[in-house]
Amino acid sequence: MQGDDPISDGASWYAEATVPAPERPRLTFDLDVDVCVIGGGLAGLTAAREIARRGWSVAVLEAQTVACGASGRNLGFVLPGYLESLARIIERVGREQAKELWALSERGLDYVRETIRETNMPGVEPVNGWLSVAKFHENPGLSEEAKLLREEFGAQAEAWSAEQVREQLKSPLYQNAIHFPRAFHIHPMNYARGLAVAAEQAGARIFEHTPALSLDPAGIRKRVVTPSGRMRAARIVLAGNTGLGALMPRLADSLLPITTYVATTAPLGEKLNQAMLYKGGVSDSVFSDSHYRMIDGDRLMWAGGMTMWAADPKRYARRLAADIRRAYPQLGRVTVDHVWSGTLGRAVHKMPQIGEMMRGVWVASGFGGHGFNTTAMAGDLIARGIVEGDKTWRLFSPYDLVWAGGAGGRAAAQALHWTRRIRERLNAQFGRPADLREELTFPADAVVSKMANKTAGALAVAENPLRAASDQTASQFSVPELTAAPANQASDPPAARDTIVPGRRQKPARHHKPVASKNPNPDGNDGRKSKAESKMALEEDATSAADGLPADN
Ligand SMILES: Cc1cc2nc3c(=O)[nH]c(=O)nc-3n(C[C@H](O)[C@H](O)[C@H](O)COP(=O)(O)OP(=O)(O)OC[C@H]3O[C@@H](n4cnc5c(N)ncnc54)[C@H](O)[C@@H]3O)c2cc1C
Repeated sequence: MQGDDPISDGASWYAEATVPAPERPRLTFDLDVDVCVIGGGLAGLTAAREIARRGWSVAVLEAQTVACGASGRNLGFVLPGYLESLARIIERVGREQAKELWALSERGLDYVRETIRETNMPGVEPVNGWLSVAKFHENPGLSEEAKLLREEFGAQAEAWSAEQVREQLKSPLYQNAIHFPRAFHIHPMNYARGLAVAAEQAGARIFEHTPALSLDPAGIRKRVVTPSGRMRAARIVLAGNTGLGALMPRLADSLLPITTYVATTAPLGEKLNQAMLYKGGVSDSVFSDSHYRMIDGDRLMWAGGMTMWAADPKRYARRLAADIRRAYPQLGRVTVDHVWSGTLGRAVHKMPQIGEMMRGVWVASGFGGHGFNTTAMAGDLIARGIVEGDKTWRLFSPYDLVWAGGAGGRAAAQALHWTRRIRERLNAQFGRPADLREELTFPADAVVSKMANKTAGALAVAENPLRAASDQTASQFSVPELTAAPANQASDPPAARDTIVPGRRQKPARHHKPVASKNPNPDGNDGRKSKAESKMALEEDATSAADGLPADN
């Protein structure tokens, strides 16, 4: 999928809509810097900009081109909060620390808005608002969450009734919602390109088509080897998302690589504006997701689906078009003119991994589908941590590097996704008033419903153990935690730091083989499918054959 210039392979709408990017050199010589950032996505670019602004020398190594990964392929929602639910964050870290984490997430959102304003960024016009809508049934939890956020977390969050929602979004599916007026959406590729320019203006150097091939993290000066040049640096920031692989297997093994799919429609004319008065971003389901926004005044950008492998995005065009028709039947048949995919890295605990994993080696990773505000926050926290010895990043210590379960973990996550989607279909068919049923019935749905009826019972039974297994994974397979360097070291000038303090190692659980020996290939994919994966693939083929649509449709 990702060639030399993956965005311009004709599939992504952003290829046609982006501001031009300057050509950047490859690293073809040996270079010594204070900080080497590996990965030129939103996390790496923000970290580089913030480090350079504080006067340290910094260089970014990007394997392909700036923002060629998730950062330039996403939907562009800039939201407060995290992928993990507020309730589970409170449960894990307590109410007070949860408040601090929430405030940091809002700071990330402010960072993006402020950067756009400060740099007068071209092609990035924020459009305010995000609406997270309950589908099929009223969800009282949303009103409670809005109240909690407003009253205790100081957030701007409004509970909207079903009537309020339907005044703005004319969908028969939608019920109540939670509205975040401070959230906004933007053109992500233009933002990333603007951010790269801002980092360079602050003094950072960016090398494209320069993959970091190996890393020697020991010693005061860490060494990074690239195809035609070497880098030496006192600090390394690992911001390569799911692409790091062999460079840092421990980190790579902690991420589930989740591929999601995005489509844009051909112009839909006035009927879209009649159906969708609200111009902010909309998410109409937390799990079996549809997320969308209006672009160009009368077109939709719509994201959904997830696979643990990178499927051909074209297979998702029909599925996404069907999702659109299901939400807005009045639009009739829609034509998809672009469809593409992107891969995000999600940790088992669904929170970002931010901190110093061993002396001088920092991690900015695991942002999941909630990466705009959190990458901004991470870049800022890491720069403060490295240059000023600031310890705020330690608020993320409860969310350390946890083995994601390898092929079994990926299979479990995929099964969970399918379970939820099937449950949604059942809700759509049988949980709605009779007058809506006909409207919601598409030929393919009938087949899916029949199959879902047969399998939903079994899958529902399977869901709880799978979730429990993933929670157990979290507690059993903790690998060395993100550690704090001694307080007097982080802000010392680079030359003064001469001793190595290895990261604190947590003893693996008794029956746990070391991660490296369990999965010698850090991508978690040695080219062969595990039994579980093969089973998933077979199930997919069977479903596709039955209804002519992708399996998780
Ligand atoms: C389809 C989709 C829609 C999304 N929508 C939203 C949204 O609306 N809002 C939101 O907040 N989040 C969204 N996300 C999530 C968000 O895009 C990501 O969380 C975020 O972009 C991650 O940024 P990153 O810098 O960590 O990773 P990436 O953007 O993946 O950047 C990592 C970079 O590292 C480079 N790299 C990897 N290995 C090496 C190496 N060895 N040497 C050199 N370079 C290397 C890669 O080439 C890549 O450019 C979405 C994600 C997807 C896939």
